[in-house]
Amino acid sequence: MAGSTIKLNVQGMTCLDCSRHITQALEKVPGVSAARVDYRAGVAEVEATQSVPPASLITAVERAGYKATVASTGASVEPAPPSPKSPPAESYGEPLAAGNADFDLLIIGTGGAGVAAAIQAVGMGGKVAIVESNTLGGTCVNVGCIPSKNLIEAASRYQASSQGFPGIAPCSPALDWNTVLESKNSLVAELRQSKYADVIASYPGLALIEGRARFTGGGNGSPVVVAVGAGKGSRTYRAWKVLIATGTRPWAPPIPGLDAVGALNSTTVMELTELPASLLVLGGSAVGLELGQTFARFGVKVTIVELAPRLLPVEDESISGELEEHLRADGLEIHTGIETTRAERNGDEVVLHVKQGGLKGTFRAASLLVAVGRRANTDDLGHDTVGVTLTNRGFVEVAATMRTSNTDIFSAGDVTGGPGYVYVAAAGGRIAAENAMRSLASTGTSSDDPRELDLSTVPNVTFTSPQVGSVGLTEAKARELGHHVQVAVLRLDQVPRALVSGNTRGIVKMVADTASGKLLGIHAVAPVAGELMGEAAMAIRFGLTARDVAGTLHPYLTWAESLKLAAQAFTMDISKLSCCA
Ligand SMILES: Cc1cc2nc3c(=O)[nH]c(=O)nc-3n(C[C@H](O)[C@H](O)[C@H](O)COP(=O)(O)OP(=O)(O)OC[C@H]3O[C@@H](n4cnc5c(N)ncnc54)[C@H](O)[C@@H]3O)c2cc1C
Repeated sequence: MAGSTIKLNVQGMTCLDCSRHITQALEKVPGVSAARVDYRAGVAEVEATQSVPPASLITAVERAGYKATVASTGASVEPAPPSPKSPPAESYGEPLAAGNADFDLLIIGTGGAGVAAAIQAVGMGGKVAIVESNTLGGTCVNVGCIPSKNLIEAASRYQASSQGFPGIAPCSPALDWNTVLESKNSLVAELRQSKYADVIASYPGLALIEGRARFTGGGNGSPVVVAVGAGKGSRTYRAWKVLIATGTRPWAPPIPGLDAVGALNSTTVMELTELPASLLVLGGSAVGLELGQTFARFGVKVTIVELAPRLLPVEDESISGELEEHLRADGLEIHTGIETTRAERNGDEVVLHVKQGGLKGTFRAASLLVAVGRRANTDDLGHDTVGVTLTNRGFVEVAATMRTSNTDIFSAGDVTGGPGYVYVAAAGGRIAAENAMRSLASTGTSSDDPRELDLSTVPNVTFTSPQVGSVGLTEAKARELGHHVQVAVLRLDQVPRALVSGNTRGIVKMVADTASGKLLGIHAVAPVAGELMGEAAMAIRFGLTARDVAGTLHPYLTWAESLKLAAQAFTMDISKLSCCA
């Protein structure tokens, strides 16, 4: 009789009883003839009389209350016959055999969502492929988080040296922009290699395929067919499950003339080899403000033009107002509530024609950065050939389990139109992969999806200076939802850490439900507001009250102490407290 041995690493076993439970659970999986579990070594060895998907073993261990990953599937007792859900290795890249699939999971896109999903699926014993049509690593490492935060850091060092400190004379630092750019580019290349290329290569069960992927059919119970590449070089793969993790790209609104003025976007502005004398930034949300302030700090005259009545319109109103004041003090010119009607190039200048109510005017600058949003990479994906529904803005529609309208196709990350952060993309990718792998081992219906992406407490950070951080409900949203709210606002000049740093720009605002005392929202404008958002997210996610936060020891002379002080501010006047009282 054909059979194989599969080894699992099992976490959480502490005694013989644990071994017994897991042995029983594994021996109930169809096709398993025997299981030996050693709790001291943390391993389980499973003998199968027929091909058993490793994911079903992992599910069995998890149902018994433990965690497992596949250590090896190599020790074949006798060759296993090809099974529809465990394809023979040689089928990878070869012409397709009917009724078979090349991969358990094929992932389209190597960004934060795709790579997190791949690691999860390989850890569950899946045979996985990840396809990339462009630069490995996607947005965050190549043209998003990493390069922008590196330039923000450079700009802040540049500004700090020209400001000095009591007793330390300010200086006029020499700016070598090309070295700043080269250093940013080498960091990007280094992290792309170590965090993406090397990581992908380190998983033997993971194949990297280069080329543009496009659905050609299948799914809903049969393998999904994906073509990669075009023309003669194109190959076709079949996978039991597919994950769409294709991300987004910068978008420009349909403003007459905009196409012809050579506007920059978030990618191209970070590649400029010369700093422009002046820069108009269309868009007063995170990306426009972060990059606008960065260029302003390098000496560029920056003007922000925003359509909404205030900056960061999704944030609490008092946070927008506070930030605007600090950005103006940093030299940015800010105009909100402005509609742009037309763009044109006039010699060396870009001209934006604008109106506000009945008033008309123009803004001019050497360059224009458009930072008003992003568009989903779904246009040439062939979604209609597999019945994947898109929203009216082109994002992939998913349930909280990350499943699309085709039961064998999942989607995660920016392409689903959720909060555009890489940690949200990665969390969605992990959940999609886990649900895909679990449904491989069972009926493949949506009722097999045990895990959902919880977006109820997403921490948001805008890396301006000072930073903006928020989690939970704004005061207005909490009231709109019918909460009776209490609000506490702490100015940073009441925070010891801010005083010793000589940087008291900002506020921390907490919104609590009056009846239960539970915190509903925490919002901050502070030099390191982002660093406060981990604790803030925990407080809201686990239903803490202001009293819980105020009663928790917070180390003195940290920025985190501002959360404790803001929580105390619900019931007392902070200016009347001694240090750390
Ligand atoms: C300027 C900027 C700054 C940012 N800063 C931060 C930050 O500080 N913190 C933070 O959390 N987030 C930040 N973000 C957002 C973050 O970068 C994204 O949320 C994240 O990268 C999304 O990951 P993803 O996997 O969904 O998509 P992506 O990273 O965009 O990956 C999608 C991949 O799919 C590939 N692809 C697309 N179509 C196909 C196809 N048909 N076939 C094959 N491959 C395909 C693409 O080439 C791409 O490599 C920033 C974004 C920008 C633009």
